[in-house]
Amino acid sequence: MIRPFSLARNVGIDLGTANTLIYIAGKGTVLSEPSVVAIDVNTGKLIGTGGEAHRMLGRTPGNIRTIRPLRDGVIADFDATELMIKSFIEKGNEGRRMMAPRLVIGIPSGVTGVERRALRDAALVGAREVHLIDEPMAAAIGAGLPVVEPVGTMIVDIGGGTTEVAVISLRGIVICESLRVAGDELNGAISRYMKKTHNLLIGERTAEDIKVRMGSALPNDDHDSMMMDVRGLHLASGLPRTVTIACGDVREALEESLGTIVDLIKKTLERTPPELASDIAERGIMLAGGGAKLRGISDLIARETGIVTHIAENPLESVVLGCARVLEDYGRLSRVLEPNDQLRGSLD
Ligand code: ADP
Ligand code: MG
Repeated sequence: MIRPFSLARNVGIDLGTANTLIYIAGKGTVLSEPSVVAIDVNTGKLIGTGGEAHRMLGRTPGNIRTIRPLRDGVIADFDATELMIKSFIEKGNEGRRMMAPRLVIGIPSGVTGVERRALRDAALVGAREVHLIDEPMAAAIGAGLPVVEPVGTMIVDIGGGTTEVAVISLRGIVICESLRVAGDELNGAISRYMKKTHNLLIGERTAEDIKVRMGSALPNDDHDSMMMDVRGLHLASGLPRTVTIACGDVREALEESLGTIVDLIKKTLERTPPELASDIAERGIMLAGGGAKLRGISDLIARETGIVTHIAENPLESVVLGCARVLEDYGRLSRVLEPNDQLRGSLD
């Protein structure tokens, strides 16, 4: 007879506010999908998850609800979160249930103790072991920062719902600050700008498209001549209308929110013990998360803090790669996990 845990696989999961990623040892990143679920409100049944649910955002009839359960970095809807994780693990494993996996799940640092326990219990069904790791720690490991060394490093993870700034040394988070200003808020700022200056209502997905194609934190000669036609609903006439915008317009829209992110980094540096702060000044700041891909953001942070700022090699995957590294190098890295987070499943 095959013992269940001989089939155990090491699996890393980044439970992000915007995107969930799954990494299976020996296979790599097998899934990267928006953290969205669509549910039939009458029956409570799952209609879809990830990309298929994301396409329904803003387009659902009354009986279907699309939910981003972790949108603000806390678990707003626990049942939806549980359904989403289970569906993603299955999708990531080619539709099959995984036998007794060993999971490391990266979660936003704002998720409370009660939610952590509930999440672990939910994930434990069918798993051999479940470990939770704070996303800034996972991002730092995934970005290749020397988290076990006695040196201070700073990771700034700009995700969808939250920006998390952490100072790490000797396997521990020394300081962690979190802010609900990140990619979603940048989209919101673009929507507000379009409404205010052009009287044009645009949807969340259009705002995101503008940000990714036109957004920047600082002027850039190569990019700034680009223009974009934006379609939306003209408020005065109530009819669809197209407006042409320039990169400078988008930068103006983003300025205030980016300033808030920069202020959080400065505030965290001020609170950092001097030895660690001087390590950071010497080694630089590391950016991760999708927000790190905004043009010019590392230069803006470097200019405002006076500290060299690097972007992780693959900012969208830093957290899931960090989770995977913890599993691969468990002997050296398991101490980054909270003792309470090392619960064993009933199969062990
Ligand atoms: P989370 O970890 O919270 O799920 P992610 O790290 O996956 O978030 O990042 C998602 C955010 O990154 C979204 O708000 C998305 O709009 C933003 N993003 C992705 N690519 C870019 C880009 N090229 N420029 C600016 N923002 C981007
Ligand atoms: Mg993230």
